[in-house]
Amino acid sequence: MSASLFSATYREARQRFLEAARKSGAAVQSHVHPRKGAEGEEIAMDTALIGAAGASSLFIVSSGTHGPEGFSGSACQLGLLGDPLLARAADAGIALLLIHAVNPYGFSHLTRTNEDNIDLNRNFNDFSQSYSANDTYEEVHPLLVPAVWPPSEADEARLAIKMQELVGRRTPGVSSGQALHPDGLFYCGTGPSWSNKTVRTILRTHGAERRHIAWIDVHTGLGPRGHGEKIFGRHSAETEARAMAWWGRDLIVSTMAQSVSPRTQGHITGCAPQECPDAAITPMTLEYGTLPNPDVRRALRGEAWLFGHPDAPRATAAAIKRAARDAFYVDADDWKGMILGQFRALALQTINGLARP
Ligand SMILES: [Zn+2]
Repeated sequence: MSASLFSATYREARQRFLEAARKSGAAVQSHVHPRKGAEGEEIAMDTALIGAAGASSLFIVSSGTHGPEGFSGSACQLGLLGDPLLARAADAGIALLLIHAVNPYGFSHLTRTNEDNIDLNRNFNDFSQSYSANDTYEEVHPLLVPAVWPPSEADEARLAIKMQELVGRRTPGVSSGQALHPDGLFYCGTGPSWSNKTVRTILRTHGAERRHIAWIDVHTGLGPRGHGEKIFGRHSAETEARAMAWWGRDLIVSTMAQSVSPRTQGHITGCAPQECPDAAITPMTLEYGTLPNPDVRRALRGEAWLFGHPDAPRATAAAIKRAARDAFYVDADDWKGMILGQFRALALQTINGLARP
């Protein structure tokens, strides 16, 4: 494991993933996205399946649900492809499915949201039902996404006071998701996105026949620098007990007050039971800390502002994208080591868990 597993661009990450997957004998599939990447390159959600198609247990690792958060998830996947853990999984009859760049558009263009400013971890909800109102978000939207970027100092001071007022008020939180502002943060969209439909197809293809599925979706941007929080949604007592037996009691249920992530509606791993109803599913959102929260928030705000101002001056747009990359990817060897080390321990725990589910 080394810092060299991290790529500098989506294009490089994709190329290295595909090469390593083929070298390890994986069955590779590419779901090409209708848009192009930042360098005009083809972008895609790529999958690598290793192990017997008929294996009863499947270990899924996905990256890039939130665009540039994929630098870390991609490095974890690349590390796994060259790891002796693969032999251990094979011996235990466990198949491994790597889903690379769930949001390839955002990964390449350095936006946490997708091509339509949709937050994919708020997009897997039931669109036949109306999305819950988020009054907390309504209170801060005009300050989060100001008319002018960068925002004035007066606006920043008002936002800081407002955010302080909201501390402790968690249901719903500012980042829980919202349906009313397509140009805002944490926007859920009006229907299933390309990534949503593609992930569901992949799950049906590779997961529907399995009995046990573990799924780690790798994220960055919340919590202490380099720390991996093991976030677990609301599930049955049986599923929670199994997850804690595998991953430890420091698993944080996302509804608990101490989680770095507020309760969200429409997160990606929630679709697994719908697409693979016969499998026992053990999911985790693995969230690594990067920068202090106000810095990350400012990067998200810049991104939302830029979405609403596509004709912004080139230098402004470049600064916003640079800030987004820095908010979700710490280009320092000690941080990269923490990402890879914690991921490897979790991958081993997951393989051990699936070997004796
Ligand atoms: Zn994320």
